[in-house]
Amino acid sequence: MGLIVQKYGGTSVGSVERMQVVAQRIARTARAGNDVVVVVSAMGHTTDHLLAMAHQLTTQPSPRELDMLLTTGEQVSISLMVMALQAIGCKAISMTGAQVGMITEPNHTRARILRIQTGRISELLKGNHIVVVAGFQGFCNAPYWEITTLGRGGSDTSAVALAAALRAERCEIYTDVPGVLTTDPRLVSDARLLDEITSEEMLELASLGAQVLHPRAVEIARNYAVPLVVRSSWLEDPGTSVISPPLPVPRPIDNIETDRPVDAVYVDNNQARLALLRVPDRPGVAAILFRYFAEAGIDVDLIIQAIQGIREEQPTNDIAFTVQRSDLARAIEVARAAAEALGSCEVVVDPCPTKISIRGAGIIGRPGVAAQMFTALARAQVNIQMISTSETCLSCVIAGVHAETAAKALCQSFGLRTPVFEEPFIIHPAETMAVRGVALDRNQAQMAILGVPDQPGIAARIFDCLAVEGIPVDMIVQSQRGEATNDIGFTVHRDLVPAAEKALKLLCDAVGCSGILIRDTVAKLSLVGIGIAGTPGIAARMFSTLADLGTNIEMISTSTIKVSCIIDQSAAEDAICKVHAAFKLGTGEKVAVEGSKS
Ligand code: ADP
Ligand code: ASP
Ligand code: MG
Repeated sequence: MGLIVQKYGGTSVGSVERMQVVAQRIARTARAGNDVVVVVSAMGHTTDHLLAMAHQLTTQPSPRELDMLLTTGEQVSISLMVMALQAIGCKAISMTGAQVGMITEPNHTRARILRIQTGRISELLKGNHIVVVAGFQGFCNAPYWEITTLGRGGSDTSAVALAAALRAERCEIYTDVPGVLTTDPRLVSDARLLDEITSEEMLELASLGAQVLHPRAVEIARNYAVPLVVRSSWLEDPGTSVISPPLPVPRPIDNIETDRPVDAVYVDNNQARLALLRVPDRPGVAAILFRYFAEAGIDVDLIIQAIQGIREEQPTNDIAFTVQRSDLARAIEVARAAAEALGSCEVVVDPCPTKISIRGAGIIGRPGVAAQMFTALARAQVNIQMISTSETCLSCVIAGVHAETAAKALCQSFGLRTPVFEEPFIIHPAETMAVRGVALDRNQAQMAILGVPDQPGIAARIFDCLAVEGIPVDMIVQSQRGEATNDIGFTVHRDLVPAAEKALKLLCDAVGCSGILIRDTVAKLSLVGIGIAGTPGIAARMFSTLADLGTNIEMISTSTIKVSCIIDQSAAEDAICKVHAAFKLGTGEKVAVEGSKS
């Protein structure tokens, strides 16, 4: 029998009675002959309550003191859990993050794990102890020993990192729902349980609002091919397996979360780009356009939509997208017919652009990576026509003549030898639904920098200035019009808006932009699925569903495995139910959700 890492979330250990139930499960696993490492979260809503107290005392609690405060929650859980285990005759011992050698970056409240000194834990396992570890916490020593935390939801990351470092047979995440579902069952009661999900899809879902797994935990599972399972601690059912591609060679356990973020540069010379300029900004426009493409059976790859002239009386949108070059002749016809139906808007065509992408599970939450990509392209004098962001991939559409220069510049910047020209290797789940999940993120705000001079390198400067402040951005969209000035839109976490605004103000003044727009009453609704690329009509169906609700789409951004729309927050809950139903993801039966969370 092997080593199993089990993680129990807050609701699973929310009371003494729950601790006793969980202790029985742990004991059964150990008595079956396994070595067991258990990671626990703080009980119930403890972390939220501690945070609320801090905010009653000051609006800006010091990050060091926050870490000192919040880590106490997990410390309560580990000691009580060990007592529960000892009470039923198990040999068990509790360990804080520091005691298990969980070394992190010196970065309070959002530290990444560097390495885990597993010597002590291995010794305890050899001595037949069940080791109960405090999740979410670590320590650093620069320049003094300090307690750190990994960020909200970080106990999942502690567990998967321990599983990777100890080369565990598997990591089991126990929570309050039966596993990974097609969407949040608190929003859509008949969400369907997935037996399997690829780590690529899970990374997107987790980052787009599906709280069930911390995205960084999925990143580690993928990078180290850790077999990962999400299950209910109330049931014996198998839950959901998160599957990762096999590792070609074992990866060093050092710099677990900070190793090279980009694995490869991909060059795709088989795309063509079309854009419809000045389409009216009203509900239903994107739906009409992409319904034409769906009906023609033409698969659309990247789609971006950004509003332009937001301060004008009648703002209009630009919608740009790419198709396979072999479909171009038909795509032009279809685009012209759609343009006519939508009123007189201009169709622009670039028959041979290049889509150049950087891929790697480490792109997630690292704002510096996008900035580094844009800077490398700007230094090589390559202008960017479209940008598409996802958690594992950043793509830029550029003029085809720049393909070689751009590929060289990116390889050099990210320390890679040569670019790759074939499609990346992607594992597919056994189930065949193209759309596998729907997520809602209500923590995003939409920002736009207005009147940005159209010069090479401006995008690099903007995103560099946000990266320096540690602000991750998503859904970057820029105008397609090629006028003297453009608007560049993107989304950031709502809490980071003041910091982003402050950072950008200086830059805007320096480069002569006309202003910054902020909209924080928006929500991001996303579809995720490996099969989205290659299934025409998915985006059209999502846009039509939103149109039927009378919901205007403020921004669109897609990658090969997701479609995201920014919509008004007031429409969000209705929209997620309708979109989930439109893709026939529901079961008609209510999912069991334990405990109460608002
Ligand atoms: P834990 O305390 O066990 O870590 P979390 O609250 O962090 O639990 O995550 C579980 C919650 O994630 C569920 O109760 C559910 O409301 C939410 N959730 C959001 N999206 C999904 C999804 N696609 N599948 C399952 N749960 C989801
Ligand atoms: N207790 C921490 C939180 O609530 C970590 C976790 O539960 O994963 O965010
Ligand atoms: Mg959690």
